[in-house]
Amino acid sequence: MEQGPANVFDADAVREKYLSERDRRLVPGRAATRDLGTDERFAPYRDDPFTPVVQRDPIIDETEVVILGGGIAGILAGVELRKAGVERFRIIDQAGGIGGTWYWNRYPGVMCDVESYIYLPMLEELDYVPRDRYASGQEILDHLQAIAQRHDLCAGALFHTGVTGAAWDGTTGRWQIRTDRGDRISARYYVLAVGILNLLKLPEIAGMEDFGGHSFHSARWDYGYTGGAPGRPMTKLGDKVVAVMGTGATGIQCIGPLADAAERVLVFQRTPSAVGERGNRPTDPAFAQHRESGWQQARMDNFQAVMLGRPVDRDLTDDGWTHDYAAVQNPPRKREGESFGDYLRRAEALDFEIMEAHRRRVAELVADSGTAEQLKPYYRYLCKRPCFHDEYLSSFNRPNVALVDCPGGIERVSAEGLVVDGHQYQVDCIVYATGFEAELTPLYRRAGHEIIGSHGISLADDWAEGAASLYGMMIRGFPNMFAMPAPGQQAVVTVNYTQLAVLGAEVIGRTIGELAARGTTVFEVSAEAQDAWTSQVVSSFVDGSSVMSACTPSRINNEGRPELLEPRNGNYGRGFGDYFGYRDLLRSWLGAGDMDGLELR
Ligand code: NAP
Repeated sequence: MEQGPANVFDADAVREKYLSERDRRLVPGRAATRDLGTDERFAPYRDDPFTPVVQRDPIIDETEVVILGGGIAGILAGVELRKAGVERFRIIDQAGGIGGTWYWNRYPGVMCDVESYIYLPMLEELDYVPRDRYASGQEILDHLQAIAQRHDLCAGALFHTGVTGAAWDGTTGRWQIRTDRGDRISARYYVLAVGILNLLKLPEIAGMEDFGGHSFHSARWDYGYTGGAPGRPMTKLGDKVVAVMGTGATGIQCIGPLADAAERVLVFQRTPSAVGERGNRPTDPAFAQHRESGWQQARMDNFQAVMLGRPVDRDLTDDGWTHDYAAVQNPPRKREGESFGDYLRRAEALDFEIMEAHRRRVAELVADSGTAEQLKPYYRYLCKRPCFHDEYLSSFNRPNVALVDCPGGIERVSAEGLVVDGHQYQVDCIVYATGFEAELTPLYRRAGHEIIGSHGISLADDWAEGAASLYGMMIRGFPNMFAMPAPGQQAVVTVNYTQLAVLGAEVIGRTIGELAARGTTVFEVSAEAQDAWTSQVVSSFVDGSSVMSACTPSRINNEGRPELLEPRNGNYGRGFGDYFGYRDLLRSWLGAGDMDGLELR
């Protein structure tokens, strides 16, 4: 994004403005979320609107591996298991098919704002080139299904199936896994590939149960009600007023198609997103034709290097992530003789310039100045996940789209609509684009069932004081179990999640292959290895709470309580972690082949 002159930066005034905007949003109960596992009234919001559930008999089986989750992580784990020669494994997923987040998120306009050439996995192996620079959800889902087909991943998969409990049986040296379909599966290895966007976040707002219209979460789009289908116009909304609650990455993508279809769209915004240019365009035929072997991994590495502030010859992705996000994440180094205060102020000025450019973009694209002002984000860039879109902001110029600014949230839901500041907005439909329990939700909750290890202790109890692991992937007391690396569990974080999943899958496939080659049937993480890894994670934790407490509340700063972030749930390396260091370490561990840190039987 183009930046303006820095000389207008008045640090005190900017800080004051940001704090006052933060305070408008720091209201009690803002993060109250329904637990759909226990809230019977709203549990049906999780039901699958895309694939009918077919009754089947329970399965009693012994298999080599159970992979919990059929999204990108589970698919890649399955591919690596095939490469390691594992013939029998079962993917289990609550969805009606493969795809994970791309199975569930079929809302109109769904796209991935991370470049398609690095996000869609295994492009080289499938000899596939995405149609556009940023892929639609449907194209991603089709591609994931093609991978699954190529590697026969769905043979034995149990869809529309939730695991209700998993327990290590020391006598047989296997995991005993139970499901909500009555299945009893015994597996030598258990792989948790549950993802980070698998738990819907449905807010707890007074009166939601009284709403007389139709409502659903964006990750369960009800095309039966709206008409149409993914990628095709919605046909049944011509006389409907639709409320969209939420203006994160999802909300901003579905508002344009809704405006095409509905009589009126009311956008309920609590915090404006920083919406940068996406710049989507069809794939250049020259790029599609001239690709050298290894190009995709090289391109992923190039993106990741830029995101970590490492020097590259050329920024191949060249988009808002690599410009703005990378710039703020890696501010220029401290100059010789510069005081720390001056250095921080320089980083703050850079952030201000980038946010000013976003605010200018709003003013340029939104005709009504009052609406434009409400759409301007006033916080530091990394306080919220940034968004990128080319049509979202200008959709507020359409006569049937209106913004309802509600920094303190929705007062209540009535039988007829939503109430903000005492005013009732009558609507026919509410779309909850309110996101997911992401990032900070611990692994045991995302897994959604009790996992009992070798000492009869559950993972929830074991991690009650925070995570403890080897490489964020294996846990002492939970033999033969792997967790795909993810935020909040002692691994690293990558904006391009696929890149991390590729690495995690490689580790799992090669480890299981090596154990089989040695004739090892059970591995357990040694206490020393786990303590050493956990200490390393804790020692690299940087307490950013003084900066983050000034942020607008979001899940990134624990909804305004960053001081409660647990160092043990941090990453390998400062901040988002040192992805390349983590990869080198894992690869040299795999290469050494001695399984150092594991006790083998
Ligand atoms: P989100 O980023 O968590 O946004 C949720 C929205 O709902 C926010 O605008 C939030 O307001 C609002 N909200 C929540 N509770 C509310 C309440 N009680 N009253 C009023 N508003 C409320 O969720 P998302 O947009 O679904 O995105 C989630 C994640 O999915 C993203 O971070 C990203 O990782 C992924 N995603 C990625 C893409 C992509 O293109 N790659 C696309 C979609 C989603 P506040 O901001 O005030 O909290």
